[in-house]
Amino acid sequence: MAETNTRPPLYIRIHAADNVAIVANDGGLKTGATFADGLVLVDNVPQGHKVALADLAEGDAIVRYNVVIGYAQKALPRGSWVHERVMRMPTAPELEGLPIATVKPPALPPLEGYTFEGYRNADGSVGSRNILAITQTVQCVAGVTEFAVQRIKAELLPKFPNVDDVVALEHSYGCGVAIDAPDAIIPIRTLRNISLNPNFGGEVMVVSLGCEKLQPERLLPPGTIPISDQRGENAADVALDVVCLQDNAHVGFMSMIDSVMRQAEVHLERLNARRRETVPASELVVGVQCGGSDAFSGVTANPAVGFATDLLVRAGATVMFSETTEVRDGIDQLTSRASSPEVAEAMIREMAWYDAYLQKGRVDRSANTTPGNKKGGLSNIVEKAMGSIVKSGSAPISGVLSPGEKVKQKGLIYAATPASDFICGTLQLAAGINLHIFTTGRGTPYGLAEVPVIKVATRSDLARRWHDLMDVNAGRIADGDATIEDVGWELFRLMLDVASGKKKTWAEHWKLHNALVLFNPAPVT
Ligand code: CA
Repeated sequence: MAETNTRPPLYIRIHAADNVAIVANDGGLKTGATFADGLVLVDNVPQGHKVALADLAEGDAIVRYNVVIGYAQKALPRGSWVHERVMRMPTAPELEGLPIATVKPPALPPLEGYTFEGYRNADGSVGSRNILAITQTVQCVAGVTEFAVQRIKAELLPKFPNVDDVVALEHSYGCGVAIDAPDAIIPIRTLRNISLNPNFGGEVMVVSLGCEKLQPERLLPPGTIPISDQRGENAADVALDVVCLQDNAHVGFMSMIDSVMRQAEVHLERLNARRRETVPASELVVGVQCGGSDAFSGVTANPAVGFATDLLVRAGATVMFSETTEVRDGIDQLTSRASSPEVAEAMIREMAWYDAYLQKGRVDRSANTTPGNKKGGLSNIVEKAMGSIVKSGSAPISGVLSPGEKVKQKGLIYAATPASDFICGTLQLAAGINLHIFTTGRGTPYGLAEVPVIKVATRSDLARRWHDLMDVNAGRIADGDATIEDVGWELFRLMLDVASGKKKTWAEHWKLHNALVLFNPAPVT
């Protein structure tokens, strides 16, 4: 760290029209620090925080990313520290009169010849891992399932070396909920679609209690499970595989465990027979999100992810961005990039639904930002959103998913989800991702048991301290040691290696697994 502190004062300005820039130096800079262009700090400015590049009068617009991120609440002379306490936040853009599909970016040249080694599924999707997932209808069965999973791992898994893991899909839903409320469709389809994630090979087994509201047939109605090609059966012939704990046949706890293990072995045998095969990069389904963001997120890691997003689109893959409260302030950029009016309308519909959802709780999108975001230099949700949205790259947005829906097309997709890291990850799993990209500035050890999570650090200081948690260091961009394009390509190549199982992420290495957290906007009872 001493090495970088000796670097000359450096600020990063995103757009020529910006009247603020962020201080890049580790540890920040003191009053009197002089930049190469002669700008002198009149305040101490922490790393990642904004400095006024011009004299700002009270009420003047503060511009970053060529967007008004706030208004000065007092005069801020050139060289001042510009932070959330001296700024007033703009109101959110109206959802009416937005530009609809007005931007027609020139078609990106196709990227050909990139492949990975994946597990081809009967429904055409491709897995990056070969995992037995045990679906649960209700939280009541979680303890029993977990007990069984521990024994499966110890006693059965060693017999099936081609199976990577056994994962219990524990959740808080299933009973004590208003299951007929219209919004209950969100948690129900989320659970359904997670059980069909490409990494589980179409092998669906369910543990049910018996008396719960979310009955197995409601969770997975006939015809929803694509039959496995190994079985060669007709869809109609494949009965849902359910272990019901309240069955009269179960006498004593161990008989339940025996049932789960017996059924698991059937699925493990089929999963174990699968082999990786070479598939085109277009079979990647990547979810991107950020968490624990700082002012560097929008300068280093997210632009690098945006570059990789464009590479994925060029390779014919599917890539989704999410986090509604973090794109709400940039809705005009998104509707203008929609590939068709229908896609723009769907985006507006999702934003309006979320506005109403927040309004019910008497908050707005500004409830998103955390103390850590502000400490990291992000003054408000507008500034955070502008940095978050760049993860989506520059391609046209070709589809929109409502929360919990499964993706059915290629290209860049807006998957509407809350920005909450765990809920976003859970909903992207339901959407069918086989890889997850996560950028962080403050640092989070986030991981998922169901798909590999590649974590990208926004700052070299974080990458150094968390050297065995961060997979990619985008902080090199701020240090001047790499370009956005360099890190974007590094990330793209790492995605192919991780999807192939040739490399493991740090979260996989340490088995860091966050819980599935369902988005349930419907009432509980
Ligand atoms: Ca997030």
